[in-house]
Amino acid sequence: MNQMTFHYCQVCDQWKAQGIYVLTNFICQSCERAIVQTNPEEEQYQYYVEKMKSRPLTNQMLM
Ligand SMILES: [Zn+2]
Repeated sequence: MNQMTFHYCQVCDQWKAQGIYVLTNFICQSCERAIVQTNPEEEQYQYYVEKMKSRPLTNQMLM
């Protein structure tokens, strides 16, 4: 059985298999890279922060 766990990335609103948890928030690999490359002073960074705050914890699914 090859069961994979998918997590809901709150930044791009997609289910992804790979990524990291920052506290209780899942961030997929591509969003993580995007965030790392964004300067905290940029408006885009605030957007990511707001996205991560916006949802509850029901972000795991087995497929
Ligand atoms: Zn993402």
